[in-house]
Amino acid sequence: MMKRKSRTDAGYAEAEATESRRIVQEQQSLLRLTTEGPSNIDSKDFCGAFAALGLDNSWDSKAFKKDFKIDIKTLTDEHVVFDMIGIDPPLVNAFRRVLIAEVPTVAISRVTIHQNTSVIHDENFAHRLGLVPIKFEPDLLESRHEEADFTDQDSVLFKLHAKCPQGQKQLSVYSRDLRWTELSVHQREQLKEAPPAPVDGDILLAQLAPGQEIECDCYCEKGIGKDHAKWSPVCTAFYKLHPVIRFEKDIVGKDAEDLKRCCPMEVFDVEDVPQLGKRAVVRNARNCTTCRECLETFPGQEKGLFLGKAKNHFIFSIESVGQIPAPELFERALIKFKEKCQTAKENVSHRRGAATK
Ligand code: SF4
Repeated sequence: MMKRKSRTDAGYAEAEATESRRIVQEQQSLLRLTTEGPSNIDSKDFCGAFAALGLDNSWDSKAFKKDFKIDIKTLTDEHVVFDMIGIDPPLVNAFRRVLIAEVPTVAISRVTIHQNTSVIHDENFAHRLGLVPIKFEPDLLESRHEEADFTDQDSVLFKLHAKCPQGQKQLSVYSRDLRWTELSVHQREQLKEAPPAPVDGDILLAQLAPGQEIECDCYCEKGIGKDHAKWSPVCTAFYKLHPVIRFEKDIVGKDAEDLKRCCPMEVFDVEDVPQLGKRAVVRNARNCTTCRECLETFPGQEKGLFLGKAKNHFIFSIESVGQIPAPELFERALIKFKEKCQTAKENVSHRRGAATK
């Protein structure tokens, strides 16, 4: 009699532990959206946090390599969208930041204005020129020291000369009017196959009235977005957590129709089920913008709708300005990130070495 009771207790304890582990795992991987706001947003990522439950949450490179996945959804030179699965938010955010601020490009950084009789001020005109995206491989240039002169090793030169003739109503000056001018014979030979040029020739720079004239030299150099946004290679680089939408109980009949109607992003649909009639189903969870309309007006929370986000599944989007194709941008960001990790590792080793001396 005693033995039987003990086995039952052991089984009960085991079932309780399994349920606790399931709850913890769900809390680790999902945040929940409620009418009061998001809940369960943090992740307990210090190892040993759940040791009492027999759950090992320490970071493991082998498990990461096994579980990490990239699933490409859109792939063009201008735009890439992909899912990153099995990765922590700080890492994804690091890639985003490297993309925006640390992948180098080439942009106009010094403008010498010889003549400007137009209505646009020299400073404003120079600023507009700086924002013209230039298509040119940044690795072909060395980084210029702040105080140093521009040379054929670290810069390329565009000249611009436009004058509106008397008798003409007006003259529009576009980015296509920037003419690349070699800084040396060596540079002419080196770049003659793929000379630098604006990404788009139709960027309006100024408008001249009859008799007005602009003449300037524009020196371009390599830089990064951290120094000035004109060097940032991306229009946008952002991610969002993948929505997780499910029903904790069936939503049927008029409720199903109401739920479908209340979502502006067409996330839900209604299907006919024998014996049950109309039942709500999730059709396009990816479309969800987390507006929470379904929680507030439907109201979903009371009717068994679970709205959440996966904390380790990211929808990542990169839009290139045009200097570097979007798929290549991500590769360059990864290389940059690896270099940064290497530098950090060397610094730590160096300090550790110094501390043990
Ligand atoms: S949060 Fe907004 S977009 Fe998402 S399912 Fe609800 S209503 Fe639709």
